[in-house]
Amino acid sequence: MQVHEKRLDIKHNVATLKKQGKTIGFVPTMGALHQGHLALVERAIQENDVAVVSIFVNPTQFNNSEDLVNYPRTLEADVELLSKLSEDIIVFAPSPVEVYGDHMNSISYDFGGIENEMEGKYRPGHFDGVGTVLKHFFTIVSPTRAYFGEKDFQQLQIVKKLVEIEKMTVEIIGCPIFREASGLALSSRNKRLNKDQLQASPLIYKVLKRVHKDFGIKNVIELNEWVSQQFENNKELELEYFEIAKVSDLRSITQKQNDTKYRAFIAVFAGKIRLIDNIALN
Ligand code: AMP
Repeated sequence: MQVHEKRLDIKHNVATLKKQGKTIGFVPTMGALHQGHLALVERAIQENDVAVVSIFVNPTQFNNSEDLVNYPRTLEADVELLSKLSEDIIVFAPSPVEVYGDHMNSISYDFGGIENEMEGKYRPGHFDGVGTVLKHFFTIVSPTRAYFGEKDFQQLQIVKKLVEIEKMTVEIIGCPIFREASGLALSSRNKRLNKDQLQASPLIYKVLKRVHKDFGIKNVIELNEWVSQQFENNKELELEYFEIAKVSDLRSITQKQNDTKYRAFIAVFAGKIRLIDNIALN
């Protein structure tokens, strides 16, 4: 298995493969890989000649320095997991300096307003960081297709916009959310949950499923109130936001309209660990 740390090395490697007419499927990750990541990698392997996985904890997308410091970093175990899937995967695991040089700055993007909703509202600068690192990575890897999880649904919409804005040719593919048997969406941050938090956290998906069930019979205000109540006296989980939003622009709504696609989005703190999830409603 090839693990590149230098951008020029992977750039040359991929350029040679592309000259041979090979398609490249790219999966950007921050590592601490789990089955959710591996499902994306498997899809990239199936649909392309070569799969490239980046493992990079991107400093510019963290608005909370404690979260950045505590983010799990398990490169050796990640490479081992990937090599079990296929020895032919190419891994790109650069240092921040390799990606950004001496100036770790984000580009300031206008994604048409979706960057100011939900995650953008609660994590200022987050999507500028995401857009900036992906611009760098798409330029270095020049992928045919890139795979993103619906777990970060807002990010997936941002990436589609980024590709439009930067006039890049990569095809962006969204993949379903991978869950524990308990319903908890897999996340690298789950590794930091203690026993009590882990036991409490399936409530997040339970609430989303109930909202999905009741979406046809209750109005949005009632649903918002019901969700708040579910977390009110919970010792382990604190609700940061719950929103029902239009898929088209991710604006939250208070009233449903016909012929409009909606999704419910949630962010919850378990102690200092922030968990997000979402579900399609219609
Ligand atoms: P991350 O390492 O958290 O930046 O995630 C890398 C990619 O994996 C992103 O496209 C995520 O949306 C995706 N991903 C993370 N967790 C899951 C999951 N439970 N199911 C599906 N995709 C996921």
